[in-house]
Amino acid sequence: MQVSTRGIILRQTKTVNDMRMLTLFSEQYGKISAAAKNDNFRGKLKSSLAIRPFTLGRYELYKNRDGYRMGRSETLRSFFGIGEDIDRYMEASFVLEFTDKILEENAPAPAIFQLLTDYFDALERRTKEMSFLTTVYQIKAVNILGYSPRLNECVHCGKKGEDFLFHVESGGAVCRECAGDNGLIYRSDSDIIDKIKFISRSSIKELEKLYLEKQALDEMNDLIRRYTRYHLDISDLKSETLLSEK
Ligand SMILES: [Zn+2]
Repeated sequence: MQVSTRGIILRQTKTVNDMRMLTLFSEQYGKISAAAKNDNFRGKLKSSLAIRPFTLGRYELYKNRDGYRMGRSETLRSFFGIGEDIDRYMEASFVLEFTDKILEENAPAPAIFQLLTDYFDALERRTKEMSFLTTVYQIKAVNILGYSPRLNECVHCGKKGEDFLFHVESGGAVCRECAGDNGLIYRSDSDIIDKIKFISRSSIKELEKLYLEKQALDEMNDLIRRYTRYHLDISDLKSETLLSEK
């Protein structure tokens, strides 16, 4: 059976017999593995372009009982600006690896697909503080996947209020009494909760011109990394090491 879908390559590995295995995030079928001939990667053929990273492509796939095989591909949009800047490149590489980890194979995830495209689009235009967009991406992905932190009431006692602390392991906001009772140590305050709420209800487009002070940015980045590590079991990303060495 032959199918056609838009997609973004998450990863590729060389295998035997002049073949490669591609991990493709397809719009229609979610994350899939597809075998491709090395020829597809060579030369200046128009079809070879869609296999570069940070490219939105259209892919023809042949499905059989062993899985997918890659046919022709064409570039719909190449996000050149990402590959040309080291900060953008590292952030986008991290996001590809993160996305690879959060997706299950053969499970369509159209909202994440749209989010990833919007992220590339915004990242290509952004001129500084690239990591803010990455944090935005992660918060939105967490929400789409159903792991949103609870922010409107205390996770422990259910009390509603404003002056809350964010506790990663508890999964969201905690009031000061519960925090005291449990002897929990927090670095984050209600200000960061307001920021996460704001990010959650705004589109990437609305956020792409927003800049945080360095301390707030570092705190947000750290918080969302710890949150995804604890709640989504996302850890040991190769690209994360690169980012933390910056
Ligand atoms: Zn409480």
